[in-house]
Amino acid sequence: PSNMAKSKFEYVRNFETDDTCLRNCYIVVRLDGRNFHKFAEQHEFTKPNDDRALGLMSRSARSVMEELEDIVIAYGQSDEFSFVFKRTSTWFKRRASKLMTHVASQFSSSYVFYWKEFFGEQPLLYPPGFDGRVVLYPSNHNLRDYLSWRQADCHINNLYNTVFWTLVQKGGLTTAQAEDRLKGTLAADKNEILFSEFHINYNTEPAVHRKGTTLIWEKRDETVLKRMKLPNEEEKDVAVTRSRRRVQAHHCDIIGEQFWEEHPDVLED
Ligand code: ATP
Ligand code: ATP
Ligand code: MG
Ligand code: MG
Ligand code: MG
Ligand code: MG
Repeated sequence: PSNMAKSKFEYVRNFETDDTCLRNCYIVVRLDGRNFHKFAEQHEFTKPNDDRALGLMSRSARSVMEELEDIVIAYGQSDEFSFVFKRTSTWFKRRASKLMTHVASQFSSSYVFYWKEFFGEQPLLYPPGFDGRVVLYPSNHNLRDYLSWRQADCHINNLYNTVFWTLVQKGGLTTAQAEDRLKGTLAADKNEILFSEFHINYNTEPAVHRKGTTLIWEKRDETVLKRMKLPNEEEKDVAVTRSRRRVQAHHCDIIGEQFWEEHPDVLED
């Protein structure tokens, strides 16, 4: 009977639409925290940058890279993270909805799972959510421009937020006054306010805030001591070296050439 039921109802599967990602393209999944303005307030995030929250975002992104296939690089800032699947990936037959939902759910569950490692006894008040989208980039040039776009966004927001909160926290302005003061200012003006009024050199602010977080796979030789028993010998510790792939975090510029020259195997030709 269950077989008959199957044949009678199975036609509904044909209502599923094809969302296979075009071959040869990089598949980018970008996640963004849902309503994190409120989430940050309710969980008392430090303004403008809460390092616990940034650490938890990166930890969750690392879990995504380690648990899912074929992600070659990830870039994150604020409440967002972008994951790039290699262009030859055939994971889940390149079905966009499968890739996106696996990234979003692995990330969300990790965010909750690792919360305590970053926030200690401060309770997580409600289950956070993340939206996801998929974008395809057909060339290395387009992909690099995408990542540059996200890092430029990080820079613009962080410069603004740094001056804004300095004016409020150290300059004694109200948030409305700080907003007024910054209306129409250019990057140079903001740097000048920080430097001349507060003796802050923006370029020496923490790199993680200015540049965001880039995660890539790196090969490392790892040496471990293994207890071994050779025939006719005492049991002893022997050093065994092997090459291990691990996710490494960087907080550097990824817009210029240097990062890509130093890590030539991240992107394929
Ligand atoms: P949406 O659901 O449309 O994404 P949102 O409230 O999440 O709405 P975003 O534009 O994504 O809006 O902005 C995220 C906000 O979360 C920031 O503006 C900031 O207030 C807060 N936020 C995220 N991460 C941090 C952090 N590490 N430190 C301090 N605040 C943060
Ligand atoms: P995939 O990642 O492809 O979905 P899967 O292992 O999750 O692989 P499913 O076809 O989704 O495969 O099957 C889910 C399996 O999970 C079931 O076959 C069963 O073994 C187990 N499972 C799920 N829920 C329960 C449950 N409530 N009690 C016992 N086993 C369960
Ligand atoms: Mg948004
Ligand atoms: Mg958001
Ligand atoms: Mg955001
Ligand atoms: Mg399943």
